Amino acid sequence: MNEITPIKPTQSGPTCTAPMSGPVSQAEDGQALCARAPVGMLCELTHRCPLQCPYCSNPLELERVNTELTTEQWQDVMRQAGELGVLQIHLSGGEPTARKDLEDIVKTASESGLYINLITAGVTLTRERMGKLAEAGLDHVQLSIQDIEPENADRIAAYKGGMAKKREVVKWVKELGLALTINAPIHRQNINSVPAMIDFAVEVGAGRIEVAHVQYYAWALLNRASLMPTKEAFMKAARQVEEAREKFKGVIVIDAVVPDYYAKFPKPCMGGWARGIVNITPSGRVLPCHAAESITHLAFDNIKDKKLADIWLYGDAFQKYRGTEWMKEPCRSCPRKEIDFGGCRCQAFALTGDATNTDPACSLSPLHAQWAKVAEEESHSAPPAFVYRRVGGAKTVPAPETEPSGV
Ligand code: SF4
Ligand code: SF4
Repeated sequence: MNEITPIKPTQSGPTCTAPMSGPVSQAEDGQALCARAPVGMLCELTHRCPLQCPYCSNPLELERVNTELTTEQWQDVMRQAGELGVLQIHLSGGEPTARKDLEDIVKTASESGLYINLITAGVTLTRERMGKLAEAGLDHVQLSIQDIEPENADRIAAYKGGMAKKREVVKWVKELGLALTINAPIHRQNINSVPAMIDFAVEVGAGRIEVAHVQYYAWALLNRASLMPTKEAFMKAARQVEEAREKFKGVIVIDAVVPDYYAKFPKPCMGGWARGIVNITPSGRVLPCHAAESITHLAFDNIKDKKLADIWLYGDAFQKYRGTEWMKEPCRSCPRKEIDFGGCRCQAFALTGDATNTDPACSLSPLHAQWAKVAEEESHSAPPAFVYRRVGGAKTVPAPETEPSGV
């Protein structure tokens, strides 16, 4: 699982970071300025995954299988989401197909009127299971790829044979008439494959590809020096995306997520804290963003104890940074504060120790220059070994002597 972008159901294809909008209203008690319902709900059904991507957005402390919500509890979440007015759900993980009851959850979500997106690495799927999921009401598949070059893909994911399997999965998705997005997390060890990854998405008939530069939270922050591309490599990839957009106009939608370290202003992370997206962890903790648990002083409600609507509107963690009242300078008086909402709270906390600080991704942050220097230095140094994402974490393997796709 990497990140999340709301899907436009009218598109044939849609991962994981576009601005999220929706009706913004004053709640009855005048406290909660927010959309009455989230546009999208990200359901991390499990943290189990056969892959071990070093940029995974799951927390460093992965939740164990014996803490996961039951089938009935997930089905109740789907019904509550439908009643609340959520439009689309993203079934994610870990690897959501590790749940044997995925078809049951999909069926209930479909009956609840939700548009259903499956975010998967694809390696555990079979043709038969794909058919059952489509029959249960699945609308859309978002398939992640690690690289086009199979050996490098295997090395990045610490999993053998993934790319060949993904080529099978995309055929099944198309045969079943489901919408398809290719999700390509980009970093220094695959950045030269951007054109080939776009070509792949076109070749397999995807409606959309997300060229998603890795965002540095969780495992990606731990592996930042192994993953950070140089600014030159990033600029080259950005030009390649522009050329491909021109070449494939009307054929495929190409979305790009810019790496914060090379941006002038931050992105409106999650479309603004608690404005349009809600995230539920495998054990039922309800978060305003998939990385929110990294802000260590926040307390999160559990769906086992409270209703989704109650948590969305009034939960402490949701209220904490919703809107703009919590902001300090320079955000407080900035004309962009309703555009980017001060960037990412998790990144501000991780890099400054205070989640109410301006995200250092912003060029107006007093910490920006220092932060950009880190990217400059790390991206020009030899990459250290990956710390692979696995329970208990931190077993390292040697990085290649030369970067396979690097500059
Ligand atoms: S390890 Fe890779 S495939 Fe598995 S959840 Fe994380 S990013 Fe997705
Ligand atoms: S100062 Fe704050 S609101 Fe203004 S651009 Fe930077 S992050 Fe956005």
